[in-house]
Amino acid sequence: MKKYIVANLKMNKNFDQFENYLENLNLKKNNNEIIICPSNIFLEKIYKRDLPISIGAQDVDHRVEGAATGSTSAAQIKNICDYTLVGHSERRETFSENNFMIGEKLLRCWENSITPILCVGENLEIRKSGIKNVENHLYSQITQSLNDNSKFEKLIIAYEPIWAIGTGLSASIKEVSEVSEMLKNKLLEISNIEISILYGGSVNLSNYKELLAVSSISGLLIGSASLDPKVFSEISNNS
Ligand code: PEP
Repeated sequence: MKKYIVANLKMNKNFDQFENYLENLNLKKNNNEIIICPSNIFLEKIYKRDLPISIGAQDVDHRVEGAATGSTSAAQIKNICDYTLVGHSERRETFSENNFMIGEKLLRCWENSITPILCVGENLEIRKSGIKNVENHLYSQITQSLNDNSKFEKLIIAYEPIWAIGTGLSASIKEVSEVSEMLKNKLLEISNIEISILYGGSVNLSNYKELLAVSSISGLLIGSASLDPKVFSEISNNS
């Protein structure tokens, strides 16, 4: 089955470094979909290259247009991007994005034929308080941002436990299986379209294969390890 391998480059690389990154990517065409999400200033640069990838943004504004200094709308990226991350924990934390604002972002994506990759995940305190609380937290992130909207056509969910992001401490295979199964069942209640679930959080060359082997996981969202074009190419080519 097709897997999604997504690179979240975050706020990394200057102009020359990004050029160098593209030069050193060595991606082979295979059945998987490779999605690269660079900073917005690089979207057009990557679009103009003939690479076997899809392009994603890291975020979009929740409004349609207008007085939103510094923001980018879904309509502005729609000709370049097929995907965008929405609700990444770094945005939820630093920019106080809540599920309702994230719900508006989802609507802007669907209005512009962009597939949102909705990031959800619990912090360490919730994880330590037991699986039932993890489940409740993830369900409320999903249901509050979907806001009873079950008419969407495309949605990908990325399960990214906050305690695993950028820490070098990936969730265990058991934890990833348990949560992804739970989410799969919940999503079946909400919508009759197939919603892929990705895992993100300290994915690297030593753990990507076993994470991808989890049957309810359809791909990976990779931060730090995607910054090295050789590492990202190796993961993408062998997934
Ligand atoms: C992320 O921030 O989406 C992420 C998965 O980061 P890392 O791979 O560095 O944990």
